[in-house]
Amino acid sequence: MSILVIADHDNKALKPATLNTVGAAAKIGGDIHILVCGADSSPVAAQAAKISGVSKVLLADHENFKHALAESLAPVIAEIGKTYTHILAPATTFGKNILPRAAALLDVQPLSEVSAVLSTDTFERPIYGGQAIATVKSKDAIKMMTIRATGFDAAPANGGSASIENIIVSTPAASTVFKGMEVSKSDRPELTAAKIVVSGGRGVGSGENFNTYIEPLADKLGAAVGASRAAVDAGYVPNDYQVGQTGKVVAPDLYVAIGISGAIQHLAGMKDSKVIVAINKDGDAPIFQVADYGIVDDLFTLVPELTDKI
Ligand code: FAD
Repeated sequence: MSILVIADHDNKALKPATLNTVGAAAKIGGDIHILVCGADSSPVAAQAAKISGVSKVLLADHENFKHALAESLAPVIAEIGKTYTHILAPATTFGKNILPRAAALLDVQPLSEVSAVLSTDTFERPIYGGQAIATVKSKDAIKMMTIRATGFDAAPANGGSASIENIIVSTPAASTVFKGMEVSKSDRPELTAAKIVVSGGRGVGSGENFNTYIEPLADKLGAAVGASRAAVDAGYVPNDYQVGQTGKVVAPDLYVAIGISGAIQHLAGMKDSKVIVAINKDGDAPIFQVADYGIVDDLFTLVPELTDKI
């Protein structure tokens, strides 16, 4: 087996989900290489070379790769990847964006959000918003898949000493041009990588209440802030806070759900958390069915008390 892992990074550092993807590659077994496509991204290649279990890092460095546009990266992945048995990318916004396009170029059927490896050609992936797990066997010569980070342990970031090979790739002019990016800045941990997540729902009532009740608790716990779709749709918090089927999938050590009812689409994004705490004034809310600890109370009195006591 020869496995190519596509690195998700920001040209300076690897995104943590890349380590989980290498963890998935290790479960398949074989020679693991990492492809870093970026601009001035040699620090990323150096970091990738230290990952335990990786034997080679391929560095394709070009200005065209700076913004990780699928139109620029997919041809490179298809060209480099054609000699591998497996091509893996994290199921992050990055991986979900580029892998299907690269798979189309190689004429293979990609598997999305793989959550377990059963053998070199058979994998598990959630379907119906995580309500069922499908076991799928790929007959393609090259197995291409995005990896759900919460399904696999991260490979150790240190301990490896892979070689780094600079590769020259053709960079055809893409029809898509990068115009700009707006990112929400936060000193809090990134939602999908955080060990603790404090999420608020429609019950929180407003953006101001998120600032007053949810954020102080999150800051005391060193947690990321998440939200239900109802809270996002109501404009309380930005879109990238959304946890769930159509948001981010998280599996932190501790997930605190405040004023969230526990719709299946929300549970699809957080039910694999190690410990779930729910705060809701409705004792019949479905969130209590998945919660390890549940408190039936008004969040506006309980959350400040809890925050004070931590
Ligand atoms: P509600 O269901 O309105 O619940 C609010 C809760 O707050 C209630 O349980 C209430 O008892 C409690 N509450 C109110 N006031 C207080 C108070 N003072 N103190 C304590 N508790 C209080 N949802 C997601 O979250 N993520 C997704 O990715 C997602 N994807 C979807 C995809 C599709 C295709 C569809 C159809 C829906 C999706 N949804 C998603 C929406 C989902 O079905 C629910 O509508 C949503 O999760 C509800 O959000 P909520 O729990 O915040 O709101």
